[in-house]
Amino acid sequence: MSSWRKILADSITDPADLPKSFRIDRDRLAEVASTYPMRINPYYLNLIKQPGDPIWRQAVPDPLERTNRVCPEDPLAEEALSRVPNLVHKYPDRALFLVHSSCAMYCRFCTRKRKVGTERLRISHESMQAAFAYLERTPAVRDVLLSGGDPLLLDDDRLEWILTELRKIPSVEIIRIGSRVPCTLPMRVTGRLAKMLKKFHPLFLNTHFNHPDELTPEAAAACNRLADAGIPLGCQTVLLKGVNNDPAVIKKLMNGLLHIRVKPYYIFQGDMSRGTDHFRTPINEGLEIMDTLIGRTSGLAIPRFAIDLPGGNGKVTMLPDNARGGEGATWTFRNYLGQTCSYLDPA
Ligand SMILES: *Cc1c(COP(=O)(O)O)cnc(C)c1O
Ligand code: SF4
Repeated sequence: MSSWRKILADSITDPADLPKSFRIDRDRLAEVASTYPMRINPYYLNLIKQPGDPIWRQAVPDPLERTNRVCPEDPLAEEALSRVPNLVHKYPDRALFLVHSSCAMYCRFCTRKRKVGTERLRISHESMQAAFAYLERTPAVRDVLLSGGDPLLLDDDRLEWILTELRKIPSVEIIRIGSRVPCTLPMRVTGRLAKMLKKFHPLFLNTHFNHPDELTPEAAAACNRLADAGIPLGCQTVLLKGVNNDPAVIKKLMNGLLHIRVKPYYIFQGDMSRGTDHFRTPINEGLEIMDTLIGRTSGLAIPRFAIDLPGGNGKVTMLPDNARGGEGATWTFRNYLGQTCSYLDPA
């Protein structure tokens, strides 16, 4: 067994097996884990410094997951937008293709927690074939995002088969992989994997780090291996209460990502997915965080702040409100120091 498979196989899936030093109500957490699966592999577990810290909150079940009720199960209407199973086609030119059902760690805030790691996310050879056929007869789709679950938990051969099938479809120009593996199981990113992926350019990979404590030497090695294979890396961070809703934490994370050659792509407002309400932060807090980044750190480190609107209405990006004016008029702006500045617009 390769080393990453061994690490994955040694994951804790029952709260009773969490380290004895963690004082928790194991029975209550077991109830949560029976609704929403838990999986913490030894690598990610080792990043926890103490109960309740930002790594813990992302990985260890919380009784609040079962009590909040404002959020629907599928706020992004992904099921309704899937004309074939596991292929979410919301925007005309791009599609989200779920190719694997499990992950290296089950994030407690997962937007697809209704089905990730459970029987409800079923991926069969037939459903894959149906998705390829759909993409073939829908040439408007030129950008395909592989997600799940985590596509990088597939073995190299299976993933290579999927990429090969996609590359047979001439209208698919861009392939993107969405994977948390560089953060949660970086040893999965082997030299062999990087070499295989390299054959399918233009291929992009968006990963997902939420806290500077996740930027370990192992994560850096994984990202460097992918970057060396010519794969542009982006990061989709989610704002999470008690994890990263702090301008200093986000700034450190964004700059740390650049160090390992990952370009911050999106910071997301938390989705309204059932079982994740306790993680959601006010939109204004996100706007304030953007305000502390803009003009105050390298522009490369600044992602777009976006909300994925409920009902499948798509992503909308948000900026601090800093421009006012009209056609042929003087526009006033608030700059990064909070000063009011003006500019005369052409009539
Ligand atoms: C987010 C998303 C995309 C990709 O959006 P970009 O803004 O291009 O990154 C595509 N399809 C679905 C269903 C999505 O949720
Ligand atoms: S890695 Fe992504 S899909 Fe998997 S549990 Fe985390 S957020 Fe959900």
